[in-house]
Amino acid sequence: MGVLGGTCHAEGMRVLVVEDEPGLARALRRGLGADGFTVDVARDGESGLGLARDGDYDAVLLDVMLPRMSGYDVVRRLRHDGNWVPVMMVSAKDGPHDQADGLDCGADDYLTKPFSYVVLLARLRALLRRPRHAHPPVLRHDDVSLDPATHEVEVGGVPVALTPREYALLEYLLRNPDRVISKTELLDRVWDVHVEADPNTVEVYVGYLRRKVGAHVIRTVRGAGYRLGG
Ligand code: CA
Repeated sequence: MGVLGGTCHAEGMRVLVVEDEPGLARALRRGLGADGFTVDVARDGESGLGLARDGDYDAVLLDVMLPRMSGYDVVRRLRHDGNWVPVMMVSAKDGPHDQADGLDCGADDYLTKPFSYVVLLARLRALLRRPRHAHPPVLRHDDVSLDPATHEVEVGGVPVALTPREYALLEYLLRNPDRVISKTELLDRVWDVHVEADPNTVEVYVGYLRRKVGAHVIRTVRGAGYRLGG
């Protein structure tokens, strides 16, 4: 039997629940506590991020729609810091798009509300049994490589310094190597929603990025957007 195979082997496992619905947060604390987990609860994204950064948790149950900071941003920031605590996103948003978004930004699993506690527990145990990925794979295209763990970018083996925006833009292109990506999509995915930006901004940054990684890396598809070159 695996360490967590039974019903009472969760002793010593620490779980952080980030959930703003008081009833659900209480139920999870009670349920997981009864199953032997040590449970901390955060009620908004910002304090969730703070606890996840400082606390040594074995897993984080993370709601998506949270006050102050979304679950997506919490997990993105954790991964950005090199924190690979297993994260299960829990959300009422259940479109396939949302699920992909959650996994894209670094979550390990995704559970849709409403869920049964038994299913949550089974998925949580499965998550805890998985080997922790200490280092995500390096993204490569042509002579460009990008390491999501260290944020190092190299062209032909030579390190290149990118601004955070240039880095995010390159990472998004490298994660979507086989299709044309519109400026609108890039604005959506790479630019913060609170920042005033328009398609011209995307052009400007693609220009900056080309100067640093080589013009051949990003191809313009007229009227449609950009795709990786080569
Ligand atoms: Ca919520």
